[in-house]
Amino acid sequence: MFVDKATIYIKAGRGGDGAVAFHREKYVAAGGPDGGDGGKGGDVILMPDPNLSTLMDFRYKRKYTAQNGENGRGSNCTGRGGDDLIIKVPRGTVVRDKQTGAVMADLSGTEGFTAAKGGRGGWGNQHFATPTRQAPRFARAGQDGVEREIILELKLLADVGLVGFPNVGKSTLLSVVSAARPKIANYHFTTLFPNLGVVYLGEGSSFIMADIPGIIEGASEGAGLGHDFLRHVDRCRLLVHVIDASGSEARDPVEDFEAINAELRQYSETLASRPMIVAANKCDIADAEYLDRLEKYVTEKGYPMFRISAATHQGVTELINEVGRQLSALPPIAVFEPDFVEPEAPETEPEFTREDGVWYVTGGWVDKLVANVNFGDYESRMFFDRNLRDRGVYDRLEELGINEGDTVSIAGIEFEYRR
Ligand code: GDP
Ligand code: MG
Repeated sequence: MFVDKATIYIKAGRGGDGAVAFHREKYVAAGGPDGGDGGKGGDVILMPDPNLSTLMDFRYKRKYTAQNGENGRGSNCTGRGGDDLIIKVPRGTVVRDKQTGAVMADLSGTEGFTAAKGGRGGWGNQHFATPTRQAPRFARAGQDGVEREIILELKLLADVGLVGFPNVGKSTLLSVVSAARPKIANYHFTTLFPNLGVVYLGEGSSFIMADIPGIIEGASEGAGLGHDFLRHVDRCRLLVHVIDASGSEARDPVEDFEAINAELRQYSETLASRPMIVAANKCDIADAEYLDRLEKYVTEKGYPMFRISAATHQGVTELINEVGRQLSALPPIAVFEPDFVEPEAPETEPEFTREDGVWYVTGGWVDKLVANVNFGDYESRMFFDRNLRDRGVYDRLEELGINEGDTVSIAGIEFEYRR
């Protein structure tokens, strides 16, 4: 089965908690704090794998969770980090955040992408010791890992896309340009479509051609086959529009040409504006009059047209050479630029702890604030103080019963409390 779209839930590991522990040794009276930090939670990483060709696995398994970090232990033992969870996806998979629809990554190269970061481990109590306060009996909890739903969309990596109505001869053409050379690799996604073929031009140059199921009228609105498959020509640098020039299915070739172009435009203007070569197929059974009319029409619109017969191979080499010639002047396969912005973690309130007469304020926004203050600078210290006051830290300390002159300790910064 060919599955090219899936929504999955991913959750990175939680960070381990920091430990509260004290150094213990025979004949040593009061050991210092030696609680280790918690380990980091595992990340969820998406990794492109050239051997995969569908997103089928994600139809059956939709939840992916990375390992949590271990808690810290005594003797300054840091908890083990959680293992990352590596999820293999086919090359060409575009990852979107489900909530915002933003593109997170385009896995069309070889590099993996961290789609959910593991939580940081919490600090053990050793971090909270200061010269004057040697025995803090608290540590920090680990942070939760990021969790989110993501949409995986496979967009084939092909240089050239064959578009056209069903039965115009697209598959035949692909099999001919593949079978004509011995060094052809054919990637079959299923016995059905889409198919990728590598077309060799000699002198080591080659390109990849995609044959997608026929686009039918209304496909861009989701009516039947085609619409879902159009995403596979999204990246193509060039389109070859195959037309049944014989009108063998009682359709008019000129109308066919316009109908498919209208579908492409409705799906995406960008796609519709790609360079296009017209392949008037089934010339072996086509009327010369039909062909002339079609040629006049498309060339007036500015598209080059090649008369071919996939069945008899007539004109196929000329077409392929022109495709190769145009590709050499075109930009590389389109890559989707990420526009996703990791949302800021919601700000959490600090914790208040009292130890041996010292008031410890830890965690939450206070940690961030401390990291951004230069304590050697008077203005900065005032900024720090104002923040604590405005954001209710002092009110909370008052509620808890702080007295004038008590020591307050914030991330290793100690000061005397003054109302
Ligand atoms: P697709 O649906 O566009 O992939 O079309 P196919 O490649 O499956 O071809 C549809 C039918 O048209 C098949 O029966 C082919 O044998 C036939 N066909 C393809 N190319 C030619 C051609 O150049 N001349 C003739 N007479 N028949 C062709
Ligand atoms: Mg076909």
